[in-house]
Amino acid sequence: MSASFAAKLIAWQKKHGRHDLPWQGTRDPYAIWVSEIMLQQTQVATVIPYYNRLLARFPEVATLAAAPLDEVLRLWSGLGYYARARNLHGAAQEIVAAHGGRFPRRFEEVAALPGVGRSTAAAICVFAFGKRHAILDGNVKRVLARYRGVKGYGGDRKIGDKLWREAQRLLPRRNVESYTQGLMDLGATVCTRSKPRCPVCPVHGGCVAFRRGWTGTVPAPRPSKRLPHKRTMMLVLMRAGEVLLEKRPPSGIWGGMWCLPEAVRKTDLEAYCLKRFGAHVTEIEELETIAHGFTHFSLDIRPLCVKVSALVPQAAEPGLVWLPFEEARGAAIPAPVRRILAQL
Ligand code: SF4
Repeated sequence: MSASFAAKLIAWQKKHGRHDLPWQGTRDPYAIWVSEIMLQQTQVATVIPYYNRLLARFPEVATLAAAPLDEVLRLWSGLGYYARARNLHGAAQEIVAAHGGRFPRRFEEVAALPGVGRSTAAAICVFAFGKRHAILDGNVKRVLARYRGVKGYGGDRKIGDKLWREAQRLLPRRNVESYTQGLMDLGATVCTRSKPRCPVCPVHGGCVAFRRGWTGTVPAPRPSKRLPHKRTMMLVLMRAGEVLLEKRPPSGIWGGMWCLPEAVRKTDLEAYCLKRFGAHVTEIEELETIAHGFTHFSLDIRPLCVKVSALVPQAAEPGLVWLPFEEARGAAIPAPVRRILAQL
């Protein structure tokens, strides 16, 4: 069964798969690595412009390693899951320090880079070095769970182990690149989360979920858990065409990015702004609340536009910067902050 699954997928990929993505047609492990990290939680169409911009600015691992993290985050701004950008930058520095700037070739070394797990390392080794490794990202988990009729939630350790064994069993001896690309393409374009297009699927003849009518229930969704809900207030301090940004701590949500300062409550805001930013408040206007979802919680941001007239001279606080409005919008800011600035 496995040979036929692989053979059908490879033939299908050649005819119907994707062949002109910007990271295809290269053996450069650096470019392939960047694309795989960007694709971890994001769809191809969204990734393409970010990938092109990052590669144009950092054409090789050494230039990425030498850049300030701030610049990498700026190029990543809007793509989300910013830990990926911090890991990418950290891994580039590790490649320079530990591997003399040469991208490692051994699977174990690739998998040990920050932000690269087993499946991403496998994809890099397949596409860059033509090695034989199985991948199992979110889309591939779905395809294999349906094809083999593996019930349960793919994020569950036991189910995940089972799917890894299936991924290993189905892996062909040859044409691993076309096969791997075929799995990715099938998951993205045919065996989609909802309404998979089974009649045109090249492997429907051997698919358990298709035969038994399980495509709506396999794989099982993530067990529902009520996400905690948080609230915060952000201050858009403005004076003479400039806005105040604050750098986030290096780790945690939006780590290392530029953000709007947060405040705990609206009362005593004048005193707070004077003490913290040396700014005299002249006007406060409430903007539209922004709802933002993270993987582990949801966040309501209540933005306040705070106009200030004069600044009391004070020692510049590190991590605070006044930027012209347009420049602020081009900085390494997270998507919700971009949305708030767009309201102004
Ligand atoms: Fe997915 Fe349907 Fe193909 Fe099975 S037949 S692998 S469920 S698209």
